[in-house]
Amino acid sequence: MQYQPVKGTHDIYGKEVLGMRYIETVLAAACELYNYKEIMLPTLEYTEVFSRGTGAGSDIVRKEMYTFLDKGNRSVTMRPEFTAGVMRSIISNKLYAGDLPLKLFYSGAAYRYERPQLGRYRQFHQFGIEQVGSDNARADAECVILAVSGLQMLGFQNVKVKINSLGDAETRANYREALVEYFKGHIDEMCSDCKERLELNPLRILDCKVEHDQEIAKGAPRIKDYLTEASEKRFYETLSIINAMGIEYELDENLVRGLDYYSEFVFEIHLTSPEGKDYGAVCGGGHYGGLLKELGGPDLAGVGFAMGVERLYSLMMENHLLDDIEEGLDLYVMPVGEKVLNDAFEITMACRSFGYSTDSPFQSMKFGTMFKKAEKLGAKYALIVGEEELENGVLKIKNIATQEQQEISLENLQEELHDIFGCEEEHHCHCHECECDCDCEECDCECGDEEHECHCHEEGCHCHHHDDE
Ligand code: ATP
Ligand code: MG
Repeated sequence: MQYQPVKGTHDIYGKEVLGMRYIETVLAAACELYNYKEIMLPTLEYTEVFSRGTGAGSDIVRKEMYTFLDKGNRSVTMRPEFTAGVMRSIISNKLYAGDLPLKLFYSGAAYRYERPQLGRYRQFHQFGIEQVGSDNARADAECVILAVSGLQMLGFQNVKVKINSLGDAETRANYREALVEYFKGHIDEMCSDCKERLELNPLRILDCKVEHDQEIAKGAPRIKDYLTEASEKRFYETLSIINAMGIEYELDENLVRGLDYYSEFVFEIHLTSPEGKDYGAVCGGGHYGGLLKELGGPDLAGVGFAMGVERLYSLMMENHLLDDIEEGLDLYVMPVGEKVLNDAFEITMACRSFGYSTDSPFQSMKFGTMFKKAEKLGAKYALIVGEEELENGVLKIKNIATQEQQEISLENLQEELHDIFGCEEEHHCHCHECECDCDCEECDCECGDEEHECHCHEEGCHCHHHDDE
């Protein structure tokens, strides 16, 4: 019997791991710029956290949750999203009693029992934020600006946002009534989901993916005609802030979002691959009121978004934004013959202790095989350890890409490796000052690369870099 992963789940390995980690790191860095702090939550919550928090009327709670009884007969659920869990945690830990607004970000796996397809899994990863405690247009705007800057930091250009306002409680009560009135006349010809939605959450009908239902929805009343003055004012304030930041957006009146507690500002971000493949939304978010209160906390509103990390990864791959990410290795130590295996092992350990990612075979291999392996592993250099080399205390080091070989003293291994790798590491800036005549290490490097970054603070150094400082 050969086991496969559970339907809708997938193993992540090789380049995808690097890509997913990279995405997480860049988005976390974006969040830190905006003073958001990470929160790590349990995967499991009591089912009620989601049935109340995500909302009984949401598709997630109605159809998509992994819910089971634990051995103590308690109903628990694998988180299908993070917002409800963050609210639960804010209450459990009385975080609301501290400094407000709370600005939190999270990253981790979520679980939804959905039909697996392109960009849709049963276990997937979300990265998101919640801001709780400031209830105004500027807080809403900051949320979408952070989402867009995160995507820009990942390399996406021309990020376009879809925006809508669901208004305040009064708006939605009036609009709901108008929607029910309108759809009542058509519900017989609509899908079974919409029949349920008419009772539970008529707004969600606007979001139905069935073509015939979409046609009917086109004739439905428009929410913008129901916005109260206060909601309208707030919405246009948010839009003007977003506009001023140069963020492109389009208004989408059918955008209603899944959570029951969304109100006022909601948004989604869709990105496309060069071939136009549709992975669905990469980011969804909005403002919510009443959610914290519903779960037993104080009446504080919030705003947040969640991004789908797998969808981001696929889009980054297709847009060639991850081409430079390599698994790679700094050094591959090659023992020539059985006798030097122990020495090679020690040298390998030493290289690791100097901070270089290093590997070496556990048993002796043919020279050619080891070279192939070094190439396959993406090693930058091969360090050759033979009996003669050990006797003389001088090893050979070969640049795998250029095939250039030089000698390196075993006694000064750390310094000499530093010189060799130093050239590689400092190729990031554009100061063109490798050959200035100060004494610092950077400027002394003879690698000939013109993109050296000089960090020296030596007096008398004439590079432009320092003139700027
Ligand atoms: P969709 O309309 O695609 O079902 P959603 O509105 O249910 O999305 P949200 O609850 O807003 O999704 O979740 C935020 C993000 O998480 C989505 O924009 C998407 O990128 C990602 N996401 C949601 N469900 C899945 C899934 N089953 N597999 C992979 N990513 C998902
Ligand atoms: Mg969904």
